[in-house]
Amino acid sequence: MKLKKSEIIDRFSAMIRFKTVSHPDRRGTDRDVFIAFRNWLKEAYPDLFSYGEALAVGDYGLLIRIPGKSGNEPAVLMAHYDVVGADPEGWSADPFGAERRDGRIYGRGTLDTKCTLCSILEAVSYHIRNGFVPEHDIWLSFGGEEEVCGETCSAIVSFLGEKGVRPSFVLDEGGAVIPEGVPGYRHQVAMIGAAEKGEVNFLLTCREGNGGHASVPPKTTVIGRLAKAAVAIEKHPFPGRLSTPVKAMFRHLSGEVPFYEKPVFMFPEILEKPLVSAASILGGSFNAMVRSTAAVTVISSTGGAFNVLPGEAAMGVNVRLLEGDTVASAEKRLRRLIRDPSIRIEVMTGDDPSPTADTDCGAYRKLTEVIRRVWPGTPSVPYQMNGGTDARFYRVLTDRIYRFTPMIMTEAERRTVHGADESISEENLLTMIRFYIELMAVL
Ligand SMILES: [Zn+2]
Repeated sequence: MKLKKSEIIDRFSAMIRFKTVSHPDRRGTDRDVFIAFRNWLKEAYPDLFSYGEALAVGDYGLLIRIPGKSGNEPAVLMAHYDVVGADPEGWSADPFGAERRDGRIYGRGTLDTKCTLCSILEAVSYHIRNGFVPEHDIWLSFGGEEEVCGETCSAIVSFLGEKGVRPSFVLDEGGAVIPEGVPGYRHQVAMIGAAEKGEVNFLLTCREGNGGHASVPPKTTVIGRLAKAAVAIEKHPFPGRLSTPVKAMFRHLSGEVPFYEKPVFMFPEILEKPLVSAASILGGSFNAMVRSTAAVTVISSTGGAFNVLPGEAAMGVNVRLLEGDTVASAEKRLRRLIRDPSIRIEVMTGDDPSPTADTDCGAYRKLTEVIRRVWPGTPSVPYQMNGGTDARFYRVLTDRIYRFTPMIMTEAERRTVHGADESISEENLLTMIRFYIELMAVL
C-alpha cells in the first residue's frame, strides 16, 4: 500500500484548521477544540487507533502504545498539537485556513509542530496497513500544552514511569536539516538537539513611597533604578565557554572537513578563547551557543500618566542557562550585579539546563543513519538548543533524548515559527513521513 498525497494533505489541512491555541492564561484556552481534535484523530486514523492502545492523559495529552514484537527497549515519538496564537495582521493567508499556494500549505502549526504529529500518524498508519510490526513497542506521546509549559507531558512521563517503561530512544521536535550549515562548516547539516538550555524568569520590583507629582521629582525614580539594573545586566554578559554538546558538535563534524582542519574539530577546546570572542562580536545564535544569556523583556509601572511619579515599577528578565549554570547560580549573579537594596529580586519560574544526551550509542547512530538515507550526504551533529521542548520531562526515564524535526528548514522558514506566514512545503511534509517510516523500521 502506498502513500496517497492528496489524502495526506487533506488530513494535515484539517489539523491546521483546528484552532488548538494554548493561552498562557489557561482560562483563555478553548478546551473543547482540543477534545474535538483528539476525537477527530480517531476518525482520521482508524487503523492506528484500532491496532494501538490509546489513552487520554488529562485534558490535553494523548498517549498511544503501538505494540511491537517486544515490550523491552521501547521508543517514544513525541509531538505537540497545541500552537501559539496568530494575529492575522501580517499574514498573506488565513492563519487557520490551511491555504495551498505554490506547493506550500499556510497556517499556524504547519512547522511547529502539527507537521511532526501528522507525519508520525501517517507513518504508523502506513506500517499498520502493510502489516509491519516494529521490533519494540513504540509509544506516541502527544501533548497539548507545550507552548505554555503545561503539565501534560510531565503527567505522561509519570504514567510511563509508574508502568516501568524505560525508553531507549526518545525523539521530539527540535533541530532540523539546515542548508546553511554551522560556524566552520557551511554545508547542509542535520542538527540534533542533544541538550537544551535551562530557563529562569526573574521579576525585579522597585518600590519607593507612594509616588507623587512629576513636577517635584526625586533624583532617581523607581523606573530610573530599574533602568540602571537593566544596563548592568546588558553590560555584563555571562562568561563564554564551549559546553559538552557544542564540543560534540565540532567533533562529529571532524570526519567531514579537510585534513588540515581536523585537529581543531577534534579538539575545539584549543580554540575556545577565539571562538568565544568571535561569538561575542557576531552575537545572535552563535553567541547564545557559548554562554548563558539574559534579556530584559518586560517593564511596567504604576504611574500611568506623564505627570505622575510611579510608586512601584517592575521588570522581567528572561535568562537561558548554559550547561554549568543553574537557576541558583544565575540568581546569585544577578544579586551581585544589582547592588540596589530597593530592588527586590524574585525567581518566578526556573528550570536548570538538561543533561546532554548520549551521542555515542546505537540509538543515536540509528537516527543519524536514517537521516543519511533520507538526505544523502548530510552529516548529523548534536547541538544544544536555546529553546525548551517537552522532551526535557523524559530526563527521569532515559538519557537518550533527541530533539530533531525531520525536515529541511531554511533560515527564512525558521523566522516564521511563532510569526506570520508560517508554512510548510508539501515536499517537506512528504519527506517527513518518509523519515518516520524509515525510522520505525529500525526502532
Ligand atoms: Zn513546538
